[in-house]
Amino acid sequence: MALVNATIAFVGLLIIYGCQTGTHSTSPLRSPEQTKRPASLTILIHGGAGSLPAGGMAEKDEAAYRAALGLALDTGYNILSDGGSALDAVQAAIVTMEDNPLFNAGKGAVFTAEGRNELDSSLMDGRDRNAGAVTGVTTIRNPILAARAVMDQSPHVMMARDGAEAFAKAKGLEIVSPDYFYTEKRWQQLQKARAAAKAKAALPATSHFGTVGAVALDANGHIAAGTSTGGMTYKRYGRIGDSPIIGAGTYASDLSCAVSATGWGEFFIRGTAARDICARVQWAGADIQQAADQVIADLKNMGGTGGVLALTPKGTYAFSFSTQMMFRGVRTAQRKDVYIENNDNQSGTGE
Ligand code: ASP
Repeated sequence: MALVNATIAFVGLLIIYGCQTGTHSTSPLRSPEQTKRPASLTILIHGGAGSLPAGGMAEKDEAAYRAALGLALDTGYNILSDGGSALDAVQAAIVTMEDNPLFNAGKGAVFTAEGRNELDSSLMDGRDRNAGAVTGVTTIRNPILAARAVMDQSPHVMMARDGAEAFAKAKGLEIVSPDYFYTEKRWQQLQKARAAAKAKAALPATSHFGTVGAVALDANGHIAAGTSTGGMTYKRYGRIGDSPIIGAGTYASDLSCAVSATGWGEFFIRGTAARDICARVQWAGADIQQAADQVIADLKNMGGTGGVLALTPKGTYAFSFSTQMMFRGVRTAQRKDVYIENNDNQSGTGE
């Protein structure tokens, strides 16, 4: 009898332990199908959401954007196909766009009301939900690398302004003069925004266009997300947008999804947009397109427009945006597509 009781107690303990590891474990939950076959390598990128210039985009500008988005996709995808992590793929794709003055991130960032470039960036790893972010930096050539350094080499998640810059310098990242970020196009946008503000008119619609972001799925079934921006033209008094805020502009968890956002940051912060999309996937069983569309619609009801990339560890993905257009692209084993216009294909799977 004692032996029977002991056996029952032991089995009971095993059941309790099993339930706990199923619900509270920090290791990612995996569906049986994911453990059976390798994940379908996928990378999605965006180069900002906004409106087309009046009269449409000039052919040569469109070609330049397509080439830049293609380079970012290839750079990230090559890392995935060499067996690299989703986190490294996201970071490398974003570096190419930070270095390209076409985008409002790194070189080419928009100007603040005082005529400065203040950059924000964040990165999140779906494996363990580790994250790093920097905000308001003016001398770090690639803010996404600083976000990575905060994640990997400090006990913190987010560092701001001169503290973040001192940290990046101490970690050997490339430091540049604030003039490095200057571009004539963005300077002229600031002059227009200043004139509009003086006349109490609405700021020009293209004034913040060009934030960059990426999400990726690697061969081990892990996902990651990252975002980098100069913020919004004419932003004031140390304003911080959604891009460096985990759960607003960036989120990744292998339990649900990876998201990078772009758009009117105040609304993405108030709506905890990136986390809300993944919460719908995680807790309500929403499919990824549905979850992304619902959150973008909700923000629009609040008064804010923008767009997102979203990707699950199963390889299902979605683009969703409420602006006229979003620069975006996807690469899997089967496809490499860059989209600019609104009427292109919006979702798919990396199967
Ligand atoms: N979300 C960015 C911000 O509010 C801007 C953008 O994505 O266009 O700083």
